[in-house]
Amino acid sequence: MKPSENLKIVIGGGGLVGSLLGILLGRRGFKVEIFEKRSDMRQASIGAGRSINLALANRGIAPLIRAGVMDDVRQMILPMEGRMIHDLKGEARFQAYGQKPDEVIYSVSRLDLNKLLITKAEETGNVTFRFDREVTDVNGNDKFFLSRSRDGGMSRVDFDLLIGTDGAGSQVREAVLSQKGSVENKMPLDHGYKELQIPAGPRGEFVLDPKALHIWPRGEFMMIALPNPDKTFTGTLFFPQKGEVSFEALITENKVEAFFKEVFPDIKDLVPDLAKSFLNSPTGQLGTIKCFPWSLENSVLLMGDAAHAIVPFQGQGMNCGFEDCGAFDELLQKEINLESLFQKFEEFRKPNADAIADLALENYIEMRSKVIDPRFIIKKKMEFQLENLFPEVFIPRYSRVMFHHTPYKDAKALGEIQDDILEQLFDDFVKLDKIPFEKAKQLVLTKLSK
Ligand code: FAD
Repeated sequence: MKPSENLKIVIGGGGLVGSLLGILLGRRGFKVEIFEKRSDMRQASIGAGRSINLALANRGIAPLIRAGVMDDVRQMILPMEGRMIHDLKGEARFQAYGQKPDEVIYSVSRLDLNKLLITKAEETGNVTFRFDREVTDVNGNDKFFLSRSRDGGMSRVDFDLLIGTDGAGSQVREAVLSQKGSVENKMPLDHGYKELQIPAGPRGEFVLDPKALHIWPRGEFMMIALPNPDKTFTGTLFFPQKGEVSFEALITENKVEAFFKEVFPDIKDLVPDLAKSFLNSPTGQLGTIKCFPWSLENSVLLMGDAAHAIVPFQGQGMNCGFEDCGAFDELLQKEINLESLFQKFEEFRKPNADAIADLALENYIEMRSKVIDPRFIIKKKMEFQLENLFPEVFIPRYSRVMFHHTPYKDAKALGEIQDDILEQLFDDFVKLDKIPFEKAKQLVLTKLSK
């Protein structure tokens, strides 16, 4: 597809995914308008939405490199080399994510990243943002939507191609599905989240190790914290919405204080005015949305959370959305019309989005309870040893998802096979305190080699 075809391209939603897509299209010479319902976050003092910071991983980095913005992004990220697990006594133990120096993930501010992507999209000279304009009433057959401005005024916008990157609550998705007679599969999680700010220490220093993603696993729930460049941390409590131990139950300052004293004693001292901050922090909802198709009449396509919202426990929602952008950009160069472009995009991305949605749900259990299970810790050791022995074939599942570009679908399937291998070697490993090489070789060669 070529810019000379003069397609009128509109992106609905100028969040992380819509802005990155704008850069990629703009750099290829396509003229793009991005309609964003909120004000320009570079001018207004608004947050960039849910979660103050995010974990950026290799799959999200590749499309940022492709868009030529990674040098700028690199200035704003902090490497996290592993998990720091905090127990009930306030003691901490480090678990490395990988075993090579570049096997790290990065903490990045959602707001700073989104602002940068908006500016970089504009700098292509081909992308125009329409802030305070909400995309509504999408009509894919007649290729127009209504744009609602802040004062409620409506105007008609015609397009040849509308790409919906309007997030988990996507209106573009609603239009695609209703006009196709399809429905979304919405799976709300019965746990939500609250964010708490952990300020820098008295000398402006980090109060926790900044090279780690901190986890306070407590079985049914957990708290995590990621570092920010201003030496603060953003903590997030993932917690049941309802029930005896839940957000619904923690509604007075006394109850909040008693709860933290018992369950997160070390956090109590890190967050000033903890009970007030907790009660003032809004409770966010989490959930998974699977839907299909992602497109309508060769005129509308969904990407990012609009197509596949997932829970945040593998830290891959944004990374997956960025991968969508990279895949779309690659197909754009190869395919000659929108029909084949949409078809290939959906064929490739849908099974992968489904796989990461499942992995993300599984990872909640891993983060909140398995990380302290001795069997899990032994298996992590085994994975690293197997990776050293068979580096071409045995790659730990976490590493495959976070540091490699293996499609999520394959990472999930290979992860299941590898777990079976670990189970078969487990007793021997415990007895010998090392991997039984011949048995491992046979298992790895028969189960993993193509
Ligand atoms: P969004 O970021 O939701 O952006 C959508 C944009 O569209 C917004 O700017 C919105 O204002 C705009 N919009 C909405 N409706 C309309 C409309 N009708 N018209 C015009 N504009 C509209 N992902 C990771 O990769 N790593 C992490 O560590 C991570 N942590 C997370 C932690 C939490 C607590 C949560 C909730 C999510 C986390 N995620 C993480 C997921 C990540 O936030 C999302 O996957 C990512 O924001 C998706 O980007 P998006 O652009 O598709 O959607």
